[in-house]
Amino acid sequence: MASNFIRDIIEKDLKTGKHETVITRFPPEPNGYLHIGHAKSICLNFGVALDYGGRCHLRFDDTNPKKEDPEFVKSIMEDVRWLGFDWGEHLYFASDYFQKLYEYAVELIKLGKAYVCHLSAEEIREYRGTLTEPGKNSPYRDRSVEENLELFEKMKNGEFAEGECVLRARIDMASPNINMRDPVIYRIVKASHHRTGDKWCIYPTYDFAHCLSDSIEGITHSLCTLEFEDHRPLYDWFLDELKVKCHPQQIEFARLNLTYTVLSKRKLTQLVDEGYVSGWDDPRMPTISGLRRRGYTPESIRDFCERIGIAKSDNIVDMALLEHCVRDDLNKRAPRYMAVLNPLKVVITNYPEGVTEELTAINNPEDESMGTRKVPFSREIYIERDDFREDPPKKFFRLAPGREVRLRYAYYITCQEVIKNEQGEIVELRCTYDPATRGGYSPDGRKVKGTIHWVSADHAIKAEVRLYDRLFIKPNPAEDEKKGISFKEYINPDSLKVLQDCFLEPNLAQCKPGDRVQFERLGYFCVDPDSQEDHLIFNRTVSLRDSWAKIEKKLRGK
Ligand code: ATP
Ligand code: MG
Repeated sequence: MASNFIRDIIEKDLKTGKHETVITRFPPEPNGYLHIGHAKSICLNFGVALDYGGRCHLRFDDTNPKKEDPEFVKSIMEDVRWLGFDWGEHLYFASDYFQKLYEYAVELIKLGKAYVCHLSAEEIREYRGTLTEPGKNSPYRDRSVEENLELFEKMKNGEFAEGECVLRARIDMASPNINMRDPVIYRIVKASHHRTGDKWCIYPTYDFAHCLSDSIEGITHSLCTLEFEDHRPLYDWFLDELKVKCHPQQIEFARLNLTYTVLSKRKLTQLVDEGYVSGWDDPRMPTISGLRRRGYTPESIRDFCERIGIAKSDNIVDMALLEHCVRDDLNKRAPRYMAVLNPLKVVITNYPEGVTEELTAINNPEDESMGTRKVPFSREIYIERDDFREDPPKKFFRLAPGREVRLRYAYYITCQEVIKNEQGEIVELRCTYDPATRGGYSPDGRKVKGTIHWVSADHAIKAEVRLYDRLFIKPNPAEDEKKGISFKEYINPDSLKVLQDCFLEPNLAQCKPGDRVQFERLGYFCVDPDSQEDHLIFNRTVSLRDSWAKIEKKLRGK
């Protein structure tokens, strides 16, 4: 893995003996599915632990029972494993620490560093002040330790209603860092928790639970995204005041932003709940499960996370890079097949009726060990509608009236006649073939400019193909939110095209959901889990055209 400033810190800490080992954690909140931004954090946390012989914990930050769901816990574990990482026995839940966290809160009260406050949420906001003005002390700030202990006990016992009071840290209402202005550390939430049921009706806030969970687990380096930089003084304050044995170091890095998508669980939840997509694993979603269903490999996602690196300032990564990574990986491993998505029938008039030939096709020109296969050829075939033009423009080298092209792995054919229906639409081509060109080469050295793919009409299997495009039409769909224009206004209306009458070479009949293939000349495709034995469905992962290569060239040229 490439070096970065976090690795430098860890290396130094190991060298100087500050730490004997490195212990990191990935701390998702189970309130949604993981997305590609989380993959960056997973690759970083598990990656450094692996590289330096340490370990990485998977910890669910489940302190918000109203938004959390065991379905999300399950999917998160599945996705981390699928990405290729293993937490071993180190699976934790912040909710396992509720008793301990409660005791820490009591200790803070005893230290005179926390108090029960009856201001409403709105009043707390008002009292907090602004970036330019200091806050005001809460009228409840100077309660005695005894009174605070008693009130906190009542909070815990459910004697107050939700929102009636909170427990706040007693720090400094004039701090230039707003996070230090007596932040809330416990609130009343009367909801069942997916793990602790109704045992608790008070729940710790993120800032309180996170640093202490890290400390309880003996984390050495707590890696988080930049928005927590201003929370670091608070992270350190809790640990210092409570004089805990283990004080992890919080280090921030830039979160991943990607063009043509959104990476916020709140926004992704809206897309799912409001039916803009079919679910969290819709192949257009930037979720790990969506990318998996789309045909992405774990290797390609890890490669992407490696290439984007770890930096300390925010930036936005081009979606073309992610696409480039999957193309690069599938190019090496996906077997090639022929498939016709928009079929046009071709009858080869001088080919004998009732005869089937088996032609040899290469499974992967990038990997000889993948061998060859037999593809049936006969008198009637399908070609791609796009590969024929009655009136070909200048640089069109494929089939046209009177023109000869190569059928991949088969023969040269020449278009002799165009058959149309009453509406004037082309319904069939009549061609002749040259038997001497078997395998796609001409003994007389005669050249053809175009090679097209095909499938034998009698042998083809029918399939559904779903063509996916980017989910948004703007590189940054959220850019106009300040103007009151929702990111949802920029959803690409053509992000999904379903083709029902596609024809595949018969070798694809054995495909299973999750299998990834290349359809020659068209792109990489993956068998969708919706497939039935008699109704195969393929998702287009990515086309073969690499826009990233072009972007990179341009960048280098500059
Ligand atoms: P969202 O903003 O999408 O709701 P979150 O940060 O609230 O994400 P968590 O479940 O709390 O979601 O995230 C778990 C971990 O993943 C955190 O450490 C967080 O910093 C990290 N993470 C979340 N989004 C990104 C991202 N876009 N890039 C890198 N890391 C991320
Ligand atoms: Mg979060």
